[in-house]
Amino acid sequence: MDYDRLYTQPSFNPGRLVGPIKLQPVPGKGRGLVADREVPLAETLLVVEPVGTALAAPEGRELLPHHLVAALDNMAAGGRLTAADRARLRLLYDGSAPDSPTSARVRGASLEDFRKVEDKLRRAAEAPKKAKGKGFGAPAPTAAATPAASTVNTAALGEAPLTAAELQAMVAFNSWGNSYSDLGAAPLRKEPSEAVIGVWPEFALLNHSCAPNTVAFNVGQHLLVQAAADIGQGQEATTCYLGDLVQAPREQRRSWLKGSYGFDCECERCKAEKAVPAEVSAAVTAAYELATSEQATKLATEAPGRSDRAALRPLEEQLAAATERLEAAMEAAGLEERLRQWLRNSAYAAYFTLAVIRDLPDASGPGGLGGLFGRTGAAAPFGDPEAPTRLAGIVEAVAPGSDLHLYLTLEALSRTAEAYDREDPRVAEATKACLRAHILRYGVVSDAVLRALLEARSRTQHYLGRITLASQSEGAGTALAGSLLKQTAAQAARELAGAGSE
Ligand SMILES: [Zn+2]
Repeated sequence: MDYDRLYTQPSFNPGRLVGPIKLQPVPGKGRGLVADREVPLAETLLVVEPVGTALAAPEGRELLPHHLVAALDNMAAGGRLTAADRARLRLLYDGSAPDSPTSARVRGASLEDFRKVEDKLRRAAEAPKKAKGKGFGAPAPTAAATPAASTVNTAALGEAPLTAAELQAMVAFNSWGNSYSDLGAAPLRKEPSEAVIGVWPEFALLNHSCAPNTVAFNVGQHLLVQAAADIGQGQEATTCYLGDLVQAPREQRRSWLKGSYGFDCECERCKAEKAVPAEVSAAVTAAYELATSEQATKLATEAPGRSDRAALRPLEEQLAAATERLEAAMEAAGLEERLRQWLRNSAYAAYFTLAVIRDLPDASGPGGLGGLFGRTGAAAPFGDPEAPTRLAGIVEAVAPGSDLHLYLTLEALSRTAEAYDREDPRVAEATKACLRAHILRYGVVSDAVLRALLEARSRTQHYLGRITLASQSEGAGTALAGSLLKQTAAQAARELAGAGSE
């Protein structure tokens, strides 16, 4: 994959790519995409194009499944959905009962079927012209159709027009969207940031986990899926359907998944969190409820005018007590570190809000909550240089390679570079963590493109994590970080490339 061109040239078409994964039955989930071999993090699993075209709108607009249904319906009416598009949709799960004919067909499909359908799409686009030129009528069936090799007749699947009910079900279960473009690639490609929603069929084959091992993002019309953790041979590749709810307690996550997708999540994280002692679960719930309570939200949103940490002292004390209670309960239970990080995510709002409050100036001064809660860009978040490092570690456990993860590693780098001497090992550590996060999302790109992606991301003022990205581009810390980036980018890339071959 030529990532450099993909991230910088809007005219570059990377085509379709299917990495070392195959579609096969997965116990309890129907089917899923399973690694054919060891897959090291940062390896590309999928590059796919949408059915028809993805629907785009100005940044921040919420595009909902029914908007996509209407758009696809329009494309169908205008003859812009091909037989191959219809067949690709009909190979996807549509919510049917497990014993229905649709489910049997869907279970029998392979990634090879998706590829065949796309080959057919290309031939169909070329064949009529040739046939016409030779004076024939309809194009002859091509010899490449090999129905015996598959249990699915993909040609027949594309024939009938899609009914409204079919479209609705397929979009409900298989669409993916985001309310802004990739914060690194879009500026490099000189594209405006846009909201997007679409169905990328092969991506839709990924099952859900509350601690997924892939990251997905779109670049133009293409959706990329990268391994965001090492995936063992025979292990399932997973994505997360939850959005921000990935940082909510188990009960909230599972009830939302049940309501939206109709399944009871039995992922590794859900199972592990279910098995913890009652005191740990109670501490998670208490911390989450405190940080998301109306009272806490009200205090936080009313405070900006006062710009004073003292005003939030009671909330700060409660949050500190709640997170300390959770930490003590996890320690007493002797939980392993990965499970602790999952549980911290379930109460992330408490850790995050506490970090934000602790970053406020003690007396009134410039900045304050106005900047921290997204009102202005006045305040730089996180006076404690270690705070974003800790938060980044928590986020990586459930959303590796996500915008929030990348943002926090950048913030950590900026803070440590400002706070410590250039030779301080903490600066080198923060630099490595930042590069690693970016490489696991973007893959191994050239140093120049990696730097450009980092710079674009650090310039972007955004609502990620409810914090504006402080204007770092003028600061000495950034210049310092820039030179460190140059030194260590190649090293980090080598380490990542070598990580999977051990
Ligand atoms: Zn789960």
